[in-house]
Amino acid sequence: MPISGSRSGQKSGASAQNWAGNIVFRARQVRRPRSVEELRDLVGSASRIRALGSGHSFNRVADTEGDLVRLDGLPPLIDVDEADSTVTVGAGMRYGEVTTALHEYGLALANLASLPHISVAGCCATATHGSGDSERCLAAAVTAMEVVGPDGESARLSRRDDPRRFPGAVVALGALGIVTSLTLSVEPAFEVSQHVYTGVPLDEVAERFGDIFGCAYSVSAFTDYRSGRARVWTKHRTAERDGSVHRTGWRGKTPAEAAHHPIPGIPPTHCTEQLGVPGPSYERLPHFRPDFTPSNGEELQSELLLPRDAAPEALTALRGLGDRIAPVLQISEVRTVAADDLWLSPAYERDCVGFHFTWVKDPEAVLPVVADVEERLLPLGARPHWGKLTAMEPARIAALYERAAEFRELVRERDPGRVFANEFVDQLLAF
Ligand SMILES: Cc1cc2nc3c(=O)[nH]c(=O)nc-3n(C[C@H](O)[C@H](O)[C@H](O)COP(=O)(O)OP(=O)(O)OC[C@H]3O[C@@H](n4cnc5c(N)ncnc54)[C@H](O)[C@@H]3O)c2cc1C
Repeated sequence: MPISGSRSGQKSGASAQNWAGNIVFRARQVRRPRSVEELRDLVGSASRIRALGSGHSFNRVADTEGDLVRLDGLPPLIDVDEADSTVTVGAGMRYGEVTTALHEYGLALANLASLPHISVAGCCATATHGSGDSERCLAAAVTAMEVVGPDGESARLSRRDDPRRFPGAVVALGALGIVTSLTLSVEPAFEVSQHVYTGVPLDEVAERFGDIFGCAYSVSAFTDYRSGRARVWTKHRTAERDGSVHRTGWRGKTPAEAAHHPIPGIPPTHCTEQLGVPGPSYERLPHFRPDFTPSNGEELQSELLLPRDAAPEALTALRGLGDRIAPVLQISEVRTVAADDLWLSPAYERDCVGFHFTWVKDPEAVLPVVADVEERLLPLGARPHWGKLTAMEPARIAALYERAAEFRELVRERDPGRVFANEFVDQLLAF
């Protein structure tokens, strides 16, 4: 049963899979409570339980040997606090639902990932990001959360009340409890127009990295390491935010005159509108339209986040692997992410460049190539995306995070009996 298939019923005994179908969860069953009270009862009586978002991760980060619990059966929640410039949303809601509702209030989120169908809590728990020199990962917008702890009690955690430890609790990989709502910073709605430039030499991307990624509010380069060319998506705010100017004046030589899909050869039907036509930010920042329903994914993904300054060297290293990567690659994407203070964020206290890979769905063929890519990029300071594939020894990953020990302490304090434990996360973070 693909997890996106079940919209009704309180529990399912059938084995559940992630969106890509490369993971069959070990969980005994998937619970789908209809109210927070029901959820609290479930958690309070469980010896092992964990939250499942929309199941878009490519690894076992969501898994448990107990029960999984999905929150998309809870009543939707959109509670705008205009004075505070925040919105409180149901944790199981998807970004597409939240941004469409916010638009009705004349409000928007600053940044979005490529796909609007992913749950807010799942994205924040893994430091999911979009692209933009000044834009942090999506979890950086979280100012408070309601979390059901191991005793079934709800607790409110907020940056205001606990500024020291809150940054440790947002990107938490499901280890601190079941988040039922998140309060997110919002800003006035804004418009974005996007252009695509084709045939950009990778030499130019490496040499003029700052100019290219600074030329618009959000920039993505879809790269082909074998041909040495990129297609660059530039997403411009039609009116810039005060104090943030994204104008280096870079323009590619060949502006596309027809819309493009990120994967060459696929019709752009499901892509957000291009060719410079302005529209609400939530219909331009993601690459894919909210009204298109993606089927289960015929793909695998991996991504490494490196210090931004390493971008040119990383591009050179990847070009050296071009022939190795090409046979198993669908597309790769380079994005930038601004530094944040979230302990487990790959962009913790460093501006990052993300090297993303959408691979063919053949783990045996793909994993050795992922390992080769990692071997080249780890020495440059790479940290793997929490929700995607990695070939790294789990034990090496905790060492990449200087706040990992404090995170383990936070987990032990909030969940002493490890009701929310998960083998995969325990290995990654050296519990
Ligand atoms: C097609 C596609 C496009 C993607 N695009 C991007 C992108 O643009 N940028 C990027 O950075 N990543 C991207 N990803 C990766 C994706 O954003 C992450 O894997 C994200 O974690 C998936 O969210 P989810 O809701 O599916 O979470 P799941 O995979 O279901 O769970 C992920 C983690 O979140 C935890 N979690 C979920 N809900 C809760 C909750 N209520 N309380 C506590 N913990 C919770 C789970 O326990 C688990 O640890 C993409 C993935 C796919 C398949």
